[in-house]
Amino acid sequence: TAQLLDRTFDLTDQFGSLQEVTASIERINEIYHTTSRVQDGPGVVFPAGALAIAFESVAFQYEPDRPVLHDISFEVAPGEVVGLIGRSGSGKSTLIRLLLRFYDPETGSVRVGGNDLRQAKLDELRGRVGLVTQEVQLFRASLRANLTFFDDAIADQRILAAIEELGIMPWYTRLPRGLDTELAGNGSDFSAGESQLLACIRVFLKDPQLIILDEATSRLDPLTEQLITQAIEKLLIGRTAIIIAHRLQTVERVDRIMVLEAGHIVEYDQRSVLRNRPDSRYAQLLTMSHPEEMLA
Ligand code: ADP
Ligand code: MG
Repeated sequence: TAQLLDRTFDLTDQFGSLQEVTASIERINEIYHTTSRVQDGPGVVFPAGALAIAFESVAFQYEPDRPVLHDISFEVAPGEVVGLIGRSGSGKSTLIRLLLRFYDPETGSVRVGGNDLRQAKLDELRGRVGLVTQEVQLFRASLRANLTFFDDAIADQRILAAIEELGIMPWYTRLPRGLDTELAGNGSDFSAGESQLLACIRVFLKDPQLIILDEATSRLDPLTEQLITQAIEKLLIGRTAIIIAHRLQTVERVDRIMVLEAGHIVEYDQRSVLRNRPDSRYAQLLTMSHPEEMLA
């Protein structure tokens, strides 16, 4: 507890008030739209390198008699990238919440790196996962602190190497004060697209073995969009990933596509296989003039 308090006071220095820290933590909770009710398991050893995922006959409901996921079984091999598509309410976010163990399944099991998640400690799991969502939490602090989460042990050189590696130096060099750029923390300094770039750098520095990406639905300017696309491609190299895609263009680069409908997997196969099967949902989406409406 003493350590936790120290950390809170450190953060208080950065934020100026405890109220602001609390507000930030609440906003982080909002990202997952849930407060966790699950308990740590005894602990597991995740293998090194990209992690495999396996759902086995998973069913889940938030409320009694209102099933949200039905008999979900699938596997993702280490290093594979899966594009997850489906209408609003089909269960995409719920599937991700089970993968991050914000909930346990009603029946069946979720395995990551061969381990049943019920056995894992939550920090152990989430330490291996990088999350890029539409909601990027920014703090009233320097760009450096925003990228490292106030971890002074991360040298500037390492941050700049990450920016270079992700191919987003053209964006960074336009910031007059570089890593010393002070952010207001309320989203006023950076566009939605720039915030996503920041999220990509954070994930790269964390170096996780599993990436969950919820693609932005908002319109981005073409230059930023190109930088994000490029950064994400770099992030995915050598890592397992699930991308909730809201545009068909995004899934053009994935290995496999999963289509969810009303809590059921109706399609899960290699993209090339689905594309060449004229009766597949994916092939049909490709012929639609406004497929985004089906990918909400
Ligand atoms: P998607 O991400 O594909 O839009 P969700 O996984 O968010 O779908 O939602 C799937 C279903 O679960 C929907 O019917 C939704 O209303 C319901 N749902 C989502 N979150 C909750 C929650 N926290 N409590 C109760 N029902 C929920
Ligand atoms: Mg969702």
